[in-house]
Amino acid sequence: MPFAITQSCCSDASCVEVCPVDCIHPTPGEPDFGHTDILYVDARACIDCGACADACPASAIKPIEILRGGEEVFAELNAAYYAERPDRAVAKEQTHARVRPGVPTGLRVAVVGTGPAATYAARELLAATDADVSFVDRLPVPGGLLRAGVAPDHGETKRVGDTFSWTYEHPRTSLFMNVEVGRHVSHAELLEHHDAVVYGIGAPEDRRLGIEGEDLDGVHGSTETVSWYNGDPEVPGDAIRVDGARVFVVGNGNVALDIARILLSDPDRLAGTEIADHALEAIRRGDVREVVLLGRRGPEESAFTRPELLTLPDGIELVVEDDAATAAALDAAAPGSKAALLADRRRVRSDWSSEPGPGRRLVLAFGRRVVAAHGDGSLASVTVSGPDGDVEAPTRLLVSSIGRRGRAVPGLPFDADRGIIPNADGRVVDPATGEAVPGAYVVGWAKRGSTGGIGANRICAGETVTTLLADAAEHRLTRPARSGRAFARLLRKRQPDLVQAPGVRAIERHEVDAGRASGRPRVKLVTVEELLAAGRR
Ligand code: NAP
Repeated sequence: MPFAITQSCCSDASCVEVCPVDCIHPTPGEPDFGHTDILYVDARACIDCGACADACPASAIKPIEILRGGEEVFAELNAAYYAERPDRAVAKEQTHARVRPGVPTGLRVAVVGTGPAATYAARELLAATDADVSFVDRLPVPGGLLRAGVAPDHGETKRVGDTFSWTYEHPRTSLFMNVEVGRHVSHAELLEHHDAVVYGIGAPEDRRLGIEGEDLDGVHGSTETVSWYNGDPEVPGDAIRVDGARVFVVGNGNVALDIARILLSDPDRLAGTEIADHALEAIRRGDVREVVLLGRRGPEESAFTRPELLTLPDGIELVVEDDAATAAALDAAAPGSKAALLADRRRVRSDWSSEPGPGRRLVLAFGRRVVAAHGDGSLASVTVSGPDGDVEAPTRLLVSSIGRRGRAVPGLPFDADRGIIPNADGRVVDPATGEAVPGAYVVGWAKRGSTGGIGANRICAGETVTTLLADAAEHRLTRPARSGRAFARLLRKRQPDLVQAPGVRAIERHEVDAGRASGRPRVKLVTVEELLAAGRR
C-alpha cells in the first residue's frame, strides 16, 4: 500500500528528509526542485513506512488505497513523474518487504484505544499485513491523548491527528466508539472475535503525592488538569477552580510546563485555539500571574525538554528562584546542559506570603517539595520544604504533575507498582507464571509507563506489532471463533449508543465547522451527550 503526494503538498521537503529509501523527488539538490507543482512518491520503491505522511506539515501524503474522488488522480500523477524521468526512479522493486513470511492472511486484530500508540500499532498492522482492525475506544471520539493531552496551543503537534485519520478511514478498519472494555465487552469476548487484542489505553490515572491534604478541593493531578482544559468529557467543566494569583505545580516535566503556560497565557491568545470554552472562561476570570514549578532536584536534573522551555510565548517571564544550591548549579552549568539553559535567567527571591507583583511569570524553584496541603475542605495553603526550611505559602490551586499510571484491565495481569500491564516486547506476560497471555499485547504508556512524546510511540508500536506478527507466524494465536459481523452485532446490543465511522465523521465536521465560524481549529464538544448528539446528525 504505497503512498502518494496530493494537492496540498507544500514542497518543503520534510518528507524527503525522513524517507528511508529516498523514494520522494525532486529533492532539494535536484534541478527541478521548486519548479514542480508538488513532490512525488515513487510507488514502486515506497516501503509504506508512513514516515513521510507523519512529517508532512500539510497532510498531503496519503496511502494510494484510500484516495477517493478527485484525489485518485494523484496516484497517476505521482507515477507519471517517474515514468517521464526513468533516471529518477529508484530502479528496483520493493526491497524492504515488510510483510512477514509465514504470517497468516486475514488476521483480525482488536486495538483498544485510539491515541497515538494504538493508532501507530493499527497503522503498522494495516501497512504490513492484510489484517482487519477493530478500534475500540471508551469515548465517542478518537485521538486519546492527542485530543485530551497535547496542549491546545500546540496546534502543530495536534496536526499529527490529520495523518492518523486515514487509519480510521481505512477500508480494513472498523470503529467501535463509546465502548468500554470491562463494561460493554470483556477481554475474553474481544478474543472470541479476534486473533489478537492490542491495548493502547495509556496511563489514565495521576500518580499520587502521598501528602496530607491531597484530597482537598483545589489539589489536582496533571491528568485531571490537562483533561479539563482539553475538554475531555470525563472531567466536568467545573472540576478546576482557577482562583488566586499564585499557583504551585509539583514537578518540572513538559506536562508541568504545559500547565504553567496555559494558566499564564494571555486568554486572547488561547481563544484562537481549541481549548475548552469552560477552561478559557475560568482562566480569563482567574487572572493567574505567577506559576511556581517545584522541582525536587536541582536544575541540571530538570525533566522539561529544551524546545518546550524555549517556546514560552511572549508576555511570560521565566525566572529562577534563587538559593545557594541553585546558584551554584547554574554557575557551574556545563555547556549544552539543562542548567545552562537557565543560567542567564533572572534570579528572584520570592516571598510566598505576599501576592506576586505585576506581569506574568513562571518561576522554576529547585530542591523543593510540597509536604502538606492545608485548608478546611478547600485548599488554603501548602507547606513547601526546601533550602529555607519549611515555608507555608497561601494558594488556592496546587497541581501535582509527577507522572501518570495505567489502569488495570479486567481479565489481564497488572503491575500495580509500576502502573503498567506487564509485558515482554509488548506481549502481555502474567508475572505469577512468567507465561505469555495468549493473544494479548500492549503498546504505549500502558506498556512502558508515562514517558516519551508522540513519536516514541511509533517505535514502541513497531516493536509490539513485530512481536504479534512473530506469534502469528509461529501459530501461537488462536483463530477467532466468531466473525467480525458477530462482533458488531454484539456491541450494538451491549451499547445502544455505539458510535461508528459515520458518527465519528459527523462529530469531526460539527467541531471543525463550529471552529471555522469563530476562527478556531475546532470548538470541542465536551460532554458525551453533546458528542453523541453531533454523531447522530
Ligand atoms: P516527567 O517528564 O516524567 O516529569 C515528572 C516530574 O515529576 C519530574 O520533575 C519528576 O522529578 C517529578 N516527580 C516525580 N515524582 C515525584 C514526587 N514523588 N515528588 C515530587 N516530584 C516528583 O513527566 P511528564 O511531565 O508527565 O511527561 C510525561 C512524558 O510526556 C515525558 O516524556 C514528556 O517529555 C512527554 N511530554 C512531551 C511533551 C512535548 O514534547 N511537547 C509535552 C508533554 C509531555 P524527578 O525528575 O526528580 O523524578
